[in-house]
Amino acid sequence: MNLNEFIRDVPDFPKPGIIFKDITPLLNNPQAFTEAVKLICKPVEKLGITHVVGIESRGFIFGTPVAIELGASFVPVRKPGKLPCETLSESYSLEYGTDSIEIHKDALGKGDRVLLVDDLLATGGTMSAAVKLVEKSGAQIIKIAFVIELAFLKGREKIACYDIATLLTY
Ligand code: AMP
Repeated sequence: MNLNEFIRDVPDFPKPGIIFKDITPLLNNPQAFTEAVKLICKPVEKLGITHVVGIESRGFIFGTPVAIELGASFVPVRKPGKLPCETLSESYSLEYGTDSIEIHKDALGKGDRVLLVDDLLATGGTMSAAVKLVEKSGAQIIKIAFVIELAFLKGREKIACYDIATLLTY
């Protein structure tokens, strides 16, 4: 099955010059969605992953079925102000200004073996902030998985010391 066929390019969304990689056709096809989840899980099946960390919001879509398939816990990384209990927070640069993400302070700890999941690697800013959150918690990052990598943006360089897996590269 060629998963490329289920990714739709949407030019000039959300702003001029950006080609948005729309994953909704993939989600709309049960076989393609299942295949994507299986392909993320396969290389980590025997790595003793205890926690899957998904990044809001499309990282939740792929991270939760992956966690269930692996028999692991799911931990959400969310935009500021969404998590109700004590959080760890990390800021990162955007094209204009900064943004931040948060994780519950008690969600992860020493001895936990983490798979980080997001839908797409662009500049790598979001994932490198998520990596810092997991590192702060004392847990160990075993692998980072994306459905899509926009290789020309070189986001991989920001998280180069980790094991990275991507299903589709553009
Ligand atoms: P970055 O921090 O630059 O790696 O951006 C990654 C986040 O932004 C991911 O969570 C993506 O969902 C989203 N994103 C960035 N660029 C695109 C794009 N061209 N198409 C779809 N989503 C994108």
